[in-house]
Amino acid sequence: MKKKPPFHQRILLLREKLDRLPFDTLWVLQPENRRYLSGFKATDGQLTESSGSLLISKDSLILVTDSRYTTEAENEAPDFDVITFNKGFNESFPQIVSKLGTRVLGFDENHLTWGVHRELAKKFRKLSPPVRLAPVKNLVEGMRELKDQEEIHSMTAAADLMSEILTIVIKKLRPGKTEKEIAWEIEGLAREGGADGLAFPSIVASGPNSALPHAVPTDRRIRAKEPITFDVGVKIDGYSCDMTRTVFLGSATPKFKKIYKTVREAQLAALKQIRPGVKSTVPDSTARRIIRNAGFGDYFGHSLGHGVGLATHEGPRLGPEKPVELKQGMVVTDEPGIYIPGLGGVRLEEMVLIEKDGPRILTRDNHFYDF
Ligand code: ZN
Ligand code: ZN
Repeated sequence: MKKKPPFHQRILLLREKLDRLPFDTLWVLQPENRRYLSGFKATDGQLTESSGSLLISKDSLILVTDSRYTTEAENEAPDFDVITFNKGFNESFPQIVSKLGTRVLGFDENHLTWGVHRELAKKFRKLSPPVRLAPVKNLVEGMRELKDQEEIHSMTAAADLMSEILTIVIKKLRPGKTEKEIAWEIEGLAREGGADGLAFPSIVASGPNSALPHAVPTDRRIRAKEPITFDVGVKIDGYSCDMTRTVFLGSATPKFKKIYKTVREAQLAALKQIRPGVKSTVPDSTARRIIRNAGFGDYFGHSLGHGVGLATHEGPRLGPEKPVELKQGMVVTDEPGIYIPGLGGVRLEEMVLIEKDGPRILTRDNHFYDF
């Protein structure tokens, strides 16, 4: 028997929440939220270019789009009534909202530009009865933090494929290859391996470039003994994997051995605390303490980790601020790093599923050194 798509269940859960919220219709624009609730896979080219949005009320499920996406929307989101607007969005949308009987329209506050908001608010005020816009924060994002079995299945597949690709690429590393050539190998293998694509542009950073946490691959040729950091991920069924390894060709210098050892120790200590019921700030502070005690406190500038799912970066954040409780079903990264400007850096990143009894690493436990 074919399994029922999860969207029905998610809508039921959302509607339960709607009862307690100060709006009667939810307008979902954020592409990952849209896909999560409807199955509609289209992405937005940029913030000012929407491929569609959802309107969800107690008794309506509507997907509003334009003619470029009508067929795709109908195929991918069968639970939704697809409405294709033919006039401009600002002309058509208020009418559609009005017909639903909406009085207060909740919108993703992190995904509506000020310009669109201003134009719509003007039009909404003139409707009879008028419609008010109400910002919504973290409603669907919060639901997305807890993964179901199917999502975990996709993320495991993405992590497996990425781990395999990295093994191939690391085996073929030779001094003289450029960072860009290696990044291209990763991209090719991702496509051949059946990924939807990369989850984000690959980071391949060698020597001093590895001191830049978000380095972009360059024409620099890799050399023996220096650190080479890979921060890479693929997407399968829309779900991301995110993993980082730092490797050395031949032996590492004593300084880098010390840095590596510290990062690895911080990562493993933090991992033990990635479990249900623990505050999200706890693993971060553990990793940070180890790095500080080893004398590298000034060189770990970012948070320990983040949630992963339809988006590569999503909730919960594992940082020094805003504690939230870690829960079973969350998938987060554990990625401490030490970056010495001009010299280089080391980052190690695992993607971890929080299970009832503790963490389960989804990325494969490979390419680690025992310095
Ligand atoms: Zn990463
Ligand atoms: Zn990450």
